[in-house]
Amino acid sequence: MDLEFQDVSFSYPAGKNPAIQSFNLLIPSGSITAVLGPNGAGKTTFLSLILGWLKPQAGRILAGGKPLNFYSRREMGQRLALVPQREQVTFEYSTLEYVLLGRAPYLMPLELPDEEDCQIASEAIARAGLSGWEERSITTLSGGELQLVLIARALAQQPEILLLDEPSSHLDLGNLNHLMAILRTQNAAGVSVIFSTHDPNFAARLADSVVLMQAGRIIGHGPTDEMLVDEKLTTLYNTPVKTIQYDGRQIVTLM
Ligand code: ATP
Repeated sequence: MDLEFQDVSFSYPAGKNPAIQSFNLLIPSGSITAVLGPNGAGKTTFLSLILGWLKPQAGRILAGGKPLNFYSRREMGQRLALVPQREQVTFEYSTLEYVLLGRAPYLMPLELPDEEDCQIASEAIARAGLSGWEERSITTLSGGELQLVLIARALAQQPEILLLDEPSSHLDLGNLNHLMAILRTQNAAGVSVIFSTHDPNFAARLADSVVLMQAGRIIGHGPTDEMLVDEKLTTLYNTPVKTIQYDGRQIVTLM
């Protein structure tokens, strides 16, 4: 499912400046897109607009050629899944119960998950590397472990578009590598992946295209190797950045 922003602007009621300004962007179906930008650039706001949680004051957002409000909440939940940066966990859910929440868009009101839902949730838990954790209470998990559960919940949703808000922030190198493998496998099966990140090297390893955001505006969008270059990154972060080639790919570092 393609995603298209047509001249989209959004301001928070209490915001001084628009969080998103005149966004024109086409994210083709089946791509892996990284969104890079400094703190406060608008990355999380951008993801919330895609999910329909925030409504633009100007312009429109199309998914599969149709405006977002064409889809019911249930249809949106079947097509789009989010792995949030963090989530407040208040109930003593087990890992399996929490991942089963990803099946909610497929259930009727008050309908309980059936055997197939449990099977899909168990497979998602296994893919996230959490086999054997089904009964563990999620209130006892570390930040990185909870992030893996959130990834499993999103996989259980079987979305067409997988959105991730700074997925690399809590993960160790081993789990980061595992996450990249999960996302590549999803993408090979036709799922579009869109993620925000503060780590240009994570973007360089995974993304086929990159959106550069600064103060609510897109200052660049294109193939990863054309966006992750010294001049553009130095401008983006307002600090000297150098890229070096290693083993056929870019490594980004501070000067
Ligand atoms: P970070 O990398 O620090 O997580 P971000 O790129 O995800 O930042 P957003 O969280 O989208 O940025 O915020 C964009 C702008 O909107 C920031 O200036 C922020 O202060 C502002 N903002 C975010 N949420 C609200 C809100 N609820 N009310 C008012 N302003 C907000």
